[in-house]
Amino acid sequence: MLNKGTIEKLIGIVGQANLLTARQDLVCYGYDATQMEFLPDAVVHPADPGEVAAILRLANAEKFPVFPRGAGSGFTGGSLPKGGGVVLVTTRMNRILRIDTDNLVAEVEPGVVTEKFQQEVEKLGLFYPPDPASLKFSTLGGNVAECAGGPRAVKYGVTKDFVMGLEVVLPNGDIIRTGGETYKGVVGYDLTKLMCGSEGTLGIITKIIFRLLPLPEAKKTILAIFGSIDGAAKAVSTIIRGKIIPTTLEFMDHPTIQCVERRFHLGIPSTARALLIIEVDGDRDLIEKQSEQIRALISPLDLVEFRVARDAPEAEQIWKVRRSVSPSLRDVNPDKYNEDIVVPRSKIPEILRQIEAVQKKYDVPIVNFGHAGDGNIHVNIMIDKQVIGMEQKAQEAIREIFRATLNAGGTLSGEHGIGLAKQPFLAMEMGPEQMALMKTIKRAFDPHNILNPGKIFPEANEAAPFPPSLR
Ligand SMILES: Cc1cc2nc3c(=O)[nH]c(=O)nc-3n(C[C@H](O)[C@H](O)[C@H](O)COP(=O)(O)OP(=O)(O)OC[C@H]3O[C@@H](n4cnc5c(N)ncnc54)[C@H](O)[C@@H]3O)c2cc1C
Repeated sequence: MLNKGTIEKLIGIVGQANLLTARQDLVCYGYDATQMEFLPDAVVHPADPGEVAAILRLANAEKFPVFPRGAGSGFTGGSLPKGGGVVLVTTRMNRILRIDTDNLVAEVEPGVVTEKFQQEVEKLGLFYPPDPASLKFSTLGGNVAECAGGPRAVKYGVTKDFVMGLEVVLPNGDIIRTGGETYKGVVGYDLTKLMCGSEGTLGIITKIIFRLLPLPEAKKTILAIFGSIDGAAKAVSTIIRGKIIPTTLEFMDHPTIQCVERRFHLGIPSTARALLIIEVDGDRDLIEKQSEQIRALISPLDLVEFRVARDAPEAEQIWKVRRSVSPSLRDVNPDKYNEDIVVPRSKIPEILRQIEAVQKKYDVPIVNFGHAGDGNIHVNIMIDKQVIGMEQKAQEAIREIFRATLNAGGTLSGEHGIGLAKQPFLAMEMGPEQMALMKTIKRAFDPHNILNPGKIFPEANEAAPFPPSLR
């Protein structure tokens, strides 16, 4: 609980209009895309790095926690003020500072919405590929802090692959710049990369320098429908082995297709057991050739239909299949655990078989879709919390799926991070020595544990609870 004097000091930093303490305002900053909720004591909207630094200096002096927050669209509770404290929202720092067309770099503030940035660079014939499905509302600061990915990661990589430099306010209020605008640079440790995916635990990102690419001339969108899940899964590595790296290689399994068809009637044949949405981009002649090569490569793999969009509306129709997934999942069950495992691409058929076996064993519906091109599968365990015992079964199923993922050489999370939600599983992937080293890094940055406490690592002496069902 913050005392009146502290509130007055915060008002002195951000101004009365940028500090919220009324309960009806606080609840708006206590949730994210999980079903967890915690009420903060105050919410501040600083205007610049100087105000962010002053807030953190005050927090160190008076020992209250600060929780950085962008749009609050995280899937693991990373921005949530567990235990109370101050939520620091970055959305007033929302300017695109410059787009440098000579050097193909841009400098932005953290509160810029991802899609807005993409649109602005594309007006100049440039390209910022990271495309999380939340791009219409997520912030670039949140994207860096979570190292967000999206369908285009298979060809272009994830957010960290585009971050060249950062301005960061450290937990003690010092402001540092990491990296820079040069494509090379090996002076000291790579603090830029350390910040990417640090989930707001090491510093508050107040400026980002991104590298950009030339906008590809054209793209081709393909819907490939398969009569077996194995066919689709094998098609992923067959295409890449054929030396084609598509821009996207999105996968949907049979239960996902059923959900979408039941609700939206998009004309997927009833023989479909799995599908891929494949996009290639680049030079017009090249993508024409690549789409024919892809057809030839995957035809023997139980291919039922191969639809190539002839124009933008047809491409949009194909993407509608993918976009219809989230709105139709609730027809299976009202609650879900949304996991985002990653395995080496060649292990996709094997992991899908294992997930199917887990589904049969625990008798819980599991719907799989996602970015198969980079081995990242969104495993959705659909449950009804009102049904006694179902949540427990889901938890056991998740643990078993994680074990199979790790045995296949994979990782528990490709995009969503650990936050609060995945803490119970962290030790499955990370040995005690590695965890101890990471905690030492956290202490070096934040000796008083001011910034986003309780995230990633379970608090000492606190048995990590299994989180409530994730939305
Ligand atoms: C419908 C939907 C679809 C999604 N699709 C994808 C997807 O395809 N790919 C993907 O990767 N994710 C996806 N996500 C998850 C989420 O959108 C991303 O993690 C996104 O990067 C979070 O951005 P945000 O601005 O909402 O950050 P928040 O949720 O506000 O915060 C996320 C984390 O970043 C920290 N943080 C935020 N800003 C800063 C800052 N300036 N400095 C330091 N730390 C900061 C917070 O403390 C927190 O730990 C999706 C979410 C939803 C709801």
